[in-house]
Amino acid sequence: MPFVSINPANEKVVAQYPAHTPQQVDQALDVASRAFQSWKATSFIDRARVMVRAAELLESEIPVVGELMTSEMGKTFASAKGEAMKCAMTMRYFAEHAEGMLQEQSVATSGSRSGVRFDPTGVIFAVMPWNFPLWQVIRMAAPTIMAGNVVMFKHASNVPGCAKYLEDLFLRAGFSPGVMTNVFVDHDRVSSIIGDPRVVGVTLTGSERAGRSVAELAGTHLKKCVLELGGSDPFVVASSADMDATVPLAVTARIQNNGQACIAAKRFIVVRDRSDEFLEKFAAAMSAVRMGDPMDPATGLGPLVSRSQRDELANQVTSSVAAGAVAMTGGEVPEGAGFFYPATVLTNVPADSRAGCEELFGPVAVVYVADDLDDAIRVANDTPWGLGGSIWAKDEREINEAIERLDVGLVFANAIVASMPELPFGGTKLSGFGRELSRFGTREFTNAKSFFVA
Ligand code: NAP
Repeated sequence: MPFVSINPANEKVVAQYPAHTPQQVDQALDVASRAFQSWKATSFIDRARVMVRAAELLESEIPVVGELMTSEMGKTFASAKGEAMKCAMTMRYFAEHAEGMLQEQSVATSGSRSGVRFDPTGVIFAVMPWNFPLWQVIRMAAPTIMAGNVVMFKHASNVPGCAKYLEDLFLRAGFSPGVMTNVFVDHDRVSSIIGDPRVVGVTLTGSERAGRSVAELAGTHLKKCVLELGGSDPFVVASSADMDATVPLAVTARIQNNGQACIAAKRFIVVRDRSDEFLEKFAAAMSAVRMGDPMDPATGLGPLVSRSQRDELANQVTSSVAAGAVAMTGGEVPEGAGFFYPATVLTNVPADSRAGCEELFGPVAVVYVADDLDDAIRVANDTPWGLGGSIWAKDEREINEAIERLDVGLVFANAIVASMPELPFGGTKLSGFGRELSRFGTREFTNAKSFFVA
C-alpha cells in the first residue's frame, strides 16, 4: 500500500509514496550496517562538519519545509517554521557538544589506568510519530548520529513527505548513504526490522499501544529500547500564582500544536482559593482562540491530524459530558471541510469518564479544583502517566515542593513544559523509559565500556 498524506485542513491528497519492498529494506539495512563501519571511525570534527552543513541547509529551507509540515499534519505555519528552526539549532548544539558529553572518563581504582568510554553500537531503528514530524526525528537522530551510530527510521504513515525530506537533507549535507535512512514500511515489517541482527537498538515515540508492541519485540530479541510515550501533564496553579501571566500560557500550553503534543498541559489543577478567577479567565481566553486555516498567520488553532483523531476526541468529550462533565466552552464539532475541533474547557469531570482517565490528544482542557497545594500534587500524581508537569507560583516554597514531589520526568515552574537540547527528555510510569537529548540521551545507544589496566 502506498503512503498517502492528506491535508487535514481541506481533506485533499498532498502526495503519495510507494512502500518499500522487503528487498529494498534488506538492501537498506546492508547499506546502513556498512555505513556504520566507516561512520564510527570518523572524528567528532568530521561528524560536526556535516551536521552543521545539514543545519545550514535546513535553515535555508524553512518556509518550504514549514509548508510541507503544515500541509501534511495541519500545524500552524508559524509553529512549523519554529519547529524547523529548533531542529537546526539542536543539530548545531550536538555538533558542538557531543564530543564533551562522550569524553572518556578516568575512574580511580586499584589499577594503573581505568575508566569508561562511550562507544557507538550500530544501526538504531526509530519508529516516529507525526505530531512534530521533523523535531521528533531530529531529537533522536542528532545526538545518536553524533555519537557514531547510524539511524534507520520508520516515520508515521501520514507524513511521508517529511520523512523523505529528512533523509534527503542528510544526504545533501554530505552524510554517506546509510547514516540516516527512511523506510516506508507498515507495522508488519517493523517486527522483522527489529529482529534483524544488523539492528542493535530500537526507539519509539508514540502511543502506549505501539510502545508495548515495539518493547515486546525489543525484549524478544534482547535489544536496547527507549520509549517516549503519552502523557496527561498537570498544570498546577498554586495560591501565589500571577494569574494574568499564567492564563495566556495555560491556553498556549493546551492548544500548542493544535493540542497534539505529548507534553501539552492536559489537566489544569487549581487550588480552591484561586479557582473561580482562573476558570473565568481561562474559559474566556480559550473561547477567544481563533480556529482556521493553519497557513493564516492570525490562526491560533488549526485542524487535528485526521478524521479518526478528531472523531476520537469528539467522542471522548461527548461521552464525558453525558457522564456529568460540563463544557464551559467548545465541545461541538464545527461544520465544513477539515478535521477541526474547537478549544474546549471541561469541568466537573467524573474520574471514571473518558476525559477523567484517558489522554486527550487535542485542544480539550480538563480543570480540577484542589483544596490546597498538597491536594493539587496528589491529583497531579494520580495518573498512570508521568511525562511532564508545571507549577505556576511566585512563592519559592511552592515551586520547590512541586519540583520535589511531582512524579514526572520534567518539571517546569512558571514556564510551559518543553524539550530543549541541554536537558534530558523522557517520562516515568506509562510515559516510557530512557531519555533523549542532553548527555543522558546522547549516551543511550552507546556502550559504556569499562576499562582497567593493572
Ligand atoms: P502511534 O499510533 O503510536 O504512532 C506512532 C508511530 O508508531 C507511527 O510511526 C506508527 O506507524 C507506529 N506504530 C503504531 N502502532 C504500531 C505497531 N503496532 N507496531 C509498529 N509501529 C507502530 O501514535 P500517534 O497516535 O500517532 O501519536 C500520539 C501518541 O504519541 C500520544 O499518546 C502522544 O502523547 C505520544 N507522543 C509521545 C511523545 C513523547 O516524546 N513522549 C511525543 C509525541 C507523541 P503508522 O503511522 O504507520 O501507524
